[in-house]
Amino acid sequence: MKSVISKAIGVAAVACCLMAAWAARDAAVPDMKFNDVSEIAPGVFFRYSSISATDPSVPFGGCNNTWVVFKEFVVVIDANFPKEAEDVIAAIKKTTDKPIRYVFDTHHHGDHAYGNTVWAKAGAKVIGHVNCSRLLEMNGPKQWAEAARDRKDIANNKLKTVDIPFDEKHVIDDGSQRVEFHYFGHAHTPGDAVAYLPKHKLLCTGDACVNGAFNFMGHSNSASWIKVLDRMKELDVAMIAPGHGKVTTKDLLDKQQRYFVDMRAAVKKGIEEKKTLAEITEAIGMPWYNEWTGKDASKIPDNVGHVYKELTGKIDHSMLGRADTPDAMGPYGPSRGVDVAGR
Ligand SMILES: [Zn+2]
Repeated sequence: MKSVISKAIGVAAVACCLMAAWAARDAAVPDMKFNDVSEIAPGVFFRYSSISATDPSVPFGGCNNTWVVFKEFVVVIDANFPKEAEDVIAAIKKTTDKPIRYVFDTHHHGDHAYGNTVWAKAGAKVIGHVNCSRLLEMNGPKQWAEAARDRKDIANNKLKTVDIPFDEKHVIDDGSQRVEFHYFGHAHTPGDAVAYLPKHKLLCTGDACVNGAFNFMGHSNSASWIKVLDRMKELDVAMIAPGHGKVTTKDLLDKQQRYFVDMRAAVKKGIEEKKTLAEITEAIGMPWYNEWTGKDASKIPDNVGHVYKELTGKIDHSMLGRADTPDAMGPYGPSRGVDVAGR
């Protein structure tokens, strides 16, 4: 009897220690190098993909990936490019031998969805918002073929669209882990959705929130994006796993939102003062943005130009993301398979 009790106390002590360790990790997000994998919560792993908006020698390694180990299977957030999907699958196999059952496309861009084909071959079903699904279908093999000109891994694979589309919310919960997929509106694209892990207070945002000068706004609705970030802020969140850039704390949502709020205000003022787009861009200001990202906001003219077009009524947001519209093929748009502003 005594030995059973002391064993129980031992187990409790170990559990306590583990909980203390996780609490400590909550407070300090891991400092990771490119391609590192870190267990950011129990059974939840994050892979940090290489990217830089300021150093062209850093290769673009697609999007970040998070995966969640359930009792019987694994759920992966974001499909990445086909080549990186293979790399992520290899990384997942080092953390668990459970089968990969679902992959979630946060949106339709190539660096988040073109790996679908690889995950499907590994046995996974693809989950995504209906607009993400619609855009992948609509842009279809034509846009795939264009992206394939720049990337061998795309040329060697085929487009795979969404298997399980959802409207507002889709939940996977087996009692041990819970992942909620939420659609909060048009943000970076018309089809962004986020993955929220309430038990771990973790939010995986895709490109609806990034940590650095990585915002491609060509398919965005900046006014709606600000509201989408408000919805994210309402969630009980301690840690953000962004689509690009390092894992960090919830205040990233404020920084991301401030970029759009300040830029919209500056552009609006410039338009009222009858300034040209070049003048508005040059005077955009926002020194705090440079402190955060290492890049001056005036050096990302495409984003200022997008907001200028929005505020002068030149954008039909319902058409954004479609390969058959003139604005679809921005220099960093998914047609090139790359989705990074300022590179
Ligand atoms: Zn994107």
